[in-house]
Amino acid sequence: MRTLVVVNPASASGRTGQQWPSLEPVFRKHLGEFESTLTERPGHAAELVRRALLSGCERIVSVGGDGSNFDAIQGFFAPVTHAAIAPHACFAFVSSGTGSDLGRTLGLPMSVEDQLARIAGATPRQIDAISCSFIGESGPDWRIALNAVGLGQCGDLVRRVDRWKWLGNSSFPFVAAGIAGVLQNTPWTFEIRIDDGEWQTRKLRNLALFNGRFQGGGMQWAPDARIDDGTLDLVAMGEVGAIRAIRTGIASYSRRIDHDYGMWTAQVRKVEVVVQPGQPPAWVEFDGESPGQIPATYEVMPGAIRLAM
Ligand SMILES: [Mg+2]
Repeated sequence: MRTLVVVNPASASGRTGQQWPSLEPVFRKHLGEFESTLTERPGHAAELVRRALLSGCERIVSVGGDGSNFDAIQGFFAPVTHAAIAPHACFAFVSSGTGSDLGRTLGLPMSVEDQLARIAGATPRQIDAISCSFIGESGPDWRIALNAVGLGQCGDLVRRVDRWKWLGNSSFPFVAAGIAGVLQNTPWTFEIRIDDGEWQTRKLRNLALFNGRFQGGGMQWAPDARIDDGTLDLVAMGEVGAIRAIRTGIASYSRRIDHDYGMWTAQVRKVEVVVQPGQPPAWVEFDGESPGQIPATYEVMPGAIRLAM
């Protein structure tokens, strides 16, 4: 099987790049012959993957974190038509950092060697993806996500973390930015339409759609989500106070977050969201990236990705 291993050397605070020379023989032991390439900037993986698939590559193995996987998966689809470039090509990933959120849903082992053994012995299966249309920096834009997407508080958080990176690479900037965002933002008033039904007005702090079960490094927001059931798990936090929002976020690391916490949950296939005039921008978030804002349309793409792991 022609395989391209796409390594994000900057992931896991640069440890992936440092470790790659010693990891490469381990990859070869499990995967056989492969080509490999190192990404040089955000978005580069999409270009490398697209070029490889167009030239007949059959398997892409992404090495990095959730953001690296997000970049790589964009390359499976044509930029304008959003059609699958190589429907029979497989995707797999190796989580080189502290464990990815999609990896948690899949029950991935922690060690790289165990993850590679699983990839080597895998029977490919189709899993769902999430199609997202939104407003990017230079106009209407589109992405595909594997794990989770959201808007509101989570988009604000991603943008704050980018600005607070000088605090170091621990989880501290993430936690601090999350708390600061919750304290500074009030809930947005959204117009929302689910599965082409009636438009409804909702006041929400955050709205997220899950294919996987986790987000934000192990927050278990959608404990019953399945990656292959053709639906997305909607999980939204309503008009709750800042302290309650923070307590719910912290609790999500260790226990199920459901109706008891005042969350709005539903199983959906399509969600359209616009923000009412005069509100602050509501940023979108895809697997830890925030490339724009709403209005946004999200749709499940049943069986869009052939996962081999
Ligand atoms: Mg699902």
